[in-house]
Amino acid sequence: MSDSNQHESLFDELGFSETIEVIHKEIQDLYLENDLPWVVGYSGGKDSTVVLQLIWGALAKLDEKKRNKKKVHVISTDTLVENPIVSNWVSRSLNMMNKAAKAAKMPIHATQLHPKVESSFWVQLLGKGYPAPRPMFRWCTERLKIWPSNQFIYDVVNQYGETILAIGTRKAESALRARTMEKHERLRTRARLSPNGSIPNCSIYTPIEDWSNDDVWLFITRTENPWGLGSTELLELYKDATEDRECPLVLDQSTPSCGASRFGCWVCTLVARDKSMEAMIANDPRNEWLLPLTAFRDLLDVKNDDHLRDFRRMSGRVQLHKNGPIHGPYLQHVRERFLRRLLETQQKLRENAPPEYREIELISFEELKEIRRIWLVDKHELEDILPRIYKETTGEPFADDTDYYHCFGQPEMDLLKEVCGDDFLRFECIREMLDLEWQNRNQVRRVGFLDKIESALQKTFYEDENDAVSFARKKKKYQASVAREAKRETVK
Ligand code: SF4
Repeated sequence: MSDSNQHESLFDELGFSETIEVIHKEIQDLYLENDLPWVVGYSGGKDSTVVLQLIWGALAKLDEKKRNKKKVHVISTDTLVENPIVSNWVSRSLNMMNKAAKAAKMPIHATQLHPKVESSFWVQLLGKGYPAPRPMFRWCTERLKIWPSNQFIYDVVNQYGETILAIGTRKAESALRARTMEKHERLRTRARLSPNGSIPNCSIYTPIEDWSNDDVWLFITRTENPWGLGSTELLELYKDATEDRECPLVLDQSTPSCGASRFGCWVCTLVARDKSMEAMIANDPRNEWLLPLTAFRDLLDVKNDDHLRDFRRMSGRVQLHKNGPIHGPYLQHVRERFLRRLLETQQKLRENAPPEYREIELISFEELKEIRRIWLVDKHELEDILPRIYKETTGEPFADDTDYYHCFGQPEMDLLKEVCGDDFLRFECIREMLDLEWQNRNQVRRVGFLDKIESALQKTFYEDENDAVSFARKKKKYQASVAREAKRETVK
């Protein structure tokens, strides 16, 4: 809890109560300046809890009519792959918040945000085959965190023209954070409000930017939580964390990986190990039911995963880097294996979880439906194996009533595979063309059909991976020589 860089407390000069009075006054002045709604980013962690408590406390002192002239939206993004205990804690906190705000006639309303089904972690990873996130390919943060919250803020800005976003960012979090905040400070046109680099007409208010960790904890332990959380509940949640940073409201990609924090996603492969989840399990035997989650995360965390991925990019193109192929999405059998393991993990959790988590859902039915659609329609995997995996792992039929009637299915594909033998590319090519023909069978005008057939051929006309890579190398060499020739001509 202690912050080694910070020895002085914010409360030293005026004392605790007086300092809070000053901050409350600042919030009230800013709030009463106009009728623009506020948005507060809440993660359930200590920093955003302090910000919301400060705002709540300041507004509670205002006349009821004055404070209800506008709305304060509390937003919290659940990535759908949150640590289940943290996710439960945040949902409970948001419910309590809404009840308490209503009872106290406060203008505060909490909303939990989620990524859209088509952008969810599982649809990207299992459906499309995006590899587990890495520092060089961190595709998750914007889809899971930035897009849902930015969409909410955009909607508020569209409705009211402008908004103020209050967040719990602090300079003491890291040197990088301090530098970024100082840069934004220099761009301030109004006192205490920084421009938001990614959303126009949204100003950022960081009321605890100069607080140390100790200041934050002092405030939490000395102040009564207005929506009814026990003062030690948050401390309990943090108690055994190896890192006590929280994953804040993520606004842009400059935010460092939140996986190492208390509130990262349980699937995060940006960190070597999910130390906070491991600590949660090690320090409280009641959390042992979470163990299968760490095993699944480790399954995704393969350092050199080229053998699990297609040698072509998502588009089917062979792209070179340092003369070798840049590998693309996970292969079909890998995606199927991961899905099977995920559903088995879900079953294990349900069997061993405490009663309140018995219905836990690691992947939703809507996500499964979208994954099935991608496999079947976009990737032409006519085996349609998802309902079978679902039935085999859960014992339940997969109740998707979408009409995917096709004249070919698993038996025909097994036969085709047998005929093609080791030539997987030929199998893939024929399968895709059969499906394209089926998908376009009722089209009167087959606009673009030949392009699709050509693209299917271009993806698969090689003998094998080596042939494809050697072709790409020759092509690259040829293109470079043409470019050199063109340059020489221009110089002449
Ligand atoms: S915690 Fe990890 S997986 Fe989740 S959004 Fe952040 S970087 Fe991505």
